[in-house]
Amino acid sequence: MKIPASETIRIAGKRRVYHACALLLAAWPAAAQKLPLGANPPGRTVLIIQSHHDDHTWEWGFGGFIAKLTGAGYTAYFVRTTNDEKDSAVGWGRGDEINHRESVAATRFLGVKDVISLNWRNDHMDSVPIKEVRENYILLIRKLRPDIVMTWNPWGHYDRNPDHRKVARAAGEAAWMAGLANVHPEHRAAGLEPHRVPFVYYTQRSDYGRGHAPNVAIELTEDHVRRKGEAFFAHNNVRGSPALAKSIRSRLDAQGLEIPELGGLTDEQAVEKLQKWSMESWSRQVGEQHGAKYAEVFYFRDEWDHLPGLAKYLRDNVVKR
Ligand SMILES: [Zn+2]
Repeated sequence: MKIPASETIRIAGKRRVYHACALLLAAWPAAAQKLPLGANPPGRTVLIIQSHHDDHTWEWGFGGFIAKLTGAGYTAYFVRTTNDEKDSAVGWGRGDEINHRESVAATRFLGVKDVISLNWRNDHMDSVPIKEVRENYILLIRKLRPDIVMTWNPWGHYDRNPDHRKVARAAGEAAWMAGLANVHPEHRAAGLEPHRVPFVYYTQRSDYGRGHAPNVAIELTEDHVRRKGEAFFAHNNVRGSPALAKSIRSRLDAQGLEIPELGGLTDEQAVEKLQKWSMESWSRQVGEQHGAKYAEVFYFRDEWDHLPGLAKYLRDNVVKR
């Protein structure tokens, strides 16, 4: 029987044709142009500031780039700003415990040294003064002195998640305000000196497709993508639902279709394959758009972006000794 295809996707590296396969596709807008491939910035510490236990994965996450940096010698710290109490089907308290444990396990796949949980209440961050959240980040930046901060895009106004929007603004401000001696001068009494973060990468949950304009692509290897897939599924509390596999299979079955690679697998086994294929497929699509096998894309600001005239002068005049 010939399948009436509406879309095509790649699964496990093979091109297959399915009807209604939008089941498996995220709604990221196609990039308007091919982006330059970025190199690792110089340095040794990266601080990943996010809202939730699993934000480093997802299609829009930093997972592959984190694996790339730790593989090159960077020490990485992951900040989980909320307690994730709503992100579970087993109750708030138990969900918080499981999500924290799985966040530690997941980030290990990416070479992250530590998960720092700030435990603000999940979905309640709008009631917290931004100055309090920002001070948390300023203190961590002064303590860990990162060369790179990765966080949500402060200009990503269309991210649908309220915790993402709050963290984006607080972290975007902290990255530069941590360098000002007159901001929280009391930190000096604790031995923490000012530190401006030279390199910042932003991303956004882009289901709604607006507000975020990446300007750099980071090339990834198959190993980086595999580890990002492992990290994604390590959040088994939210990723491991057999109902997803069951739902996809029944919807395909209703159209007389099947995915042969899932034959003989339980729904529990099938959902793991589907989640990892989804991550691999997305990294491949982004890579193909930007001239690499696999890639992630971000909005990047470098150390001189706040002094554009000086940045051009340096680009034109600096020479190697
Ligand atoms: Zn999130």
